[in-house]
Amino acid sequence: MSRIHFPSSNPKPVLKTGVIYSADNGRLICVECAGMSAKFTGHDISGLRVTKVPYATTVEWFQEFGKPMSCEGGCTTYLLPKP
Ligand SMILES: [Zn+2]
Repeated sequence: MSRIHFPSSNPKPVLKTGVIYSADNGRLICVECAGMSAKFTGHDISGLRVTKVPYATTVEWFQEFGKPMSCEGGCTTYLLPKP
């Protein structure tokens, strides 16, 4: 049985609140809907690595869909400056 290893003191979160990440399978998640372990491991609950969505991608999303990018849980939305 394996255990998740955390540094013994002052663990540093890998994921930040208010940032949307893209999982390897294309899901858009934030730290809230990714889960607490993801916050420190950088992997979602399926074990997939997540990477921060570049700002340019959020702008493209807004232009294509006409609405701000948000995570699948709807708890984090990127508010872009109005053109
Ligand atoms: Zn979320």
